[in-house]
Amino acid sequence: MSSNASALSRRELMLGTAGAAAAGIIVGTQTASAKAPMAGASMTAFRRVKLGKFEVTTVFDGFANVPKVFPIFGQNKSAEEVATHMQGNYLPGDKMQIGFTPVVVNTGNKLVLFDTGNGDGRGPTRGHLAKSLQAAGFSPDMIDVVVITHYHPDHIGGLIANGKATFPNARYVTGEAENNFWTSKRVTGSTDKRMMGRSKLVQSKVVPLAEKTTFLKGAKDVVTGITALETFGHTPGHMAYNIESEGKRLLLWADACNHYVASLQKPEWHVIFDMDKDAAIASRKKLLDMAAADKIPATGYHMPFPAIGFVEQVGDAHRWVPMSYQLNI
Ligand SMILES: [Zn+2]
Repeated sequence: MSSNASALSRRELMLGTAGAAAAGIIVGTQTASAKAPMAGASMTAFRRVKLGKFEVTTVFDGFANVPKVFPIFGQNKSAEEVATHMQGNYLPGDKMQIGFTPVVVNTGNKLVLFDTGNGDGRGPTRGHLAKSLQAAGFSPDMIDVVVITHYHPDHIGGLIANGKATFPNARYVTGEAENNFWTSKRVTGSTDKRMMGRSKLVQSKVVPLAEKTTFLKGAKDVVTGITALETFGHTPGHMAYNIESEGKRLLLWADACNHYVASLQKPEWHVIFDMDKDAAIASRKKLLDMAAADKIPATGYHMPFPAIGFVEQVGDAHRWVPMSYQLNI
């Protein structure tokens, strides 16, 4: 992660609370001089769309610059094949930028937040959810329900900060299978270094909230209009959600698809973060087929911001079609 990129992110996200950022565009101070200061790359704190009577706001937590593509994506392929495919899609073959985008759904009765970002301690380009929420007009005490799609660090990291629940008035919803796995002996007793780190995080960020948590099994509603979909594989209890108001639908697939090119065009590529590769592929294909067949918009935690788009069927595979104005007209 370059320090340059970090500085830009901090600058942008700080500006994100100011009026200029509400428009989503950061520009440098303009003067009559030709020597305007460089303003740096910009990013947007939030994007809000309508979905029937609901409002859906995607809220940027930040990004990670990753110095490789293979074997994170295409673990069962060759490095050359993966690089060539990415380059064919106008992307670098040897590095990536991955975004983190929680979602707020205002149903009119409840304010529901899906996932909580990285929290602090994961570098300067991540953990900006609180600032982005503020830019979008939400304070932490307004959140009624926090849905955790799965227990990976970039999704649970913002639940608790300095020993206190970030969202003081919220109740919590997550998958029963997910919770069972991450609190099982298999995880808490693991001697694998990576697993020990993840277990520690679950114990400090999720377990203290258990009494206020509803554990879902099957296609249950979080609130009216928001229904869980069991999409296991990325993690043992990963959940996607169908969001629906007045016949308008949005599929929230969380991490079932992690890259807008790799996951959609090559859903059978193994992904290093998918804990059960075959189950993850099946879940991925199921969700992609659903979005493409019904032509419904989807939001994914790691899709390019604003992380809302459509899934076009192309032969046996799919293509990500970024949203433009479809949900605001
Ligand atoms: Zn993730």
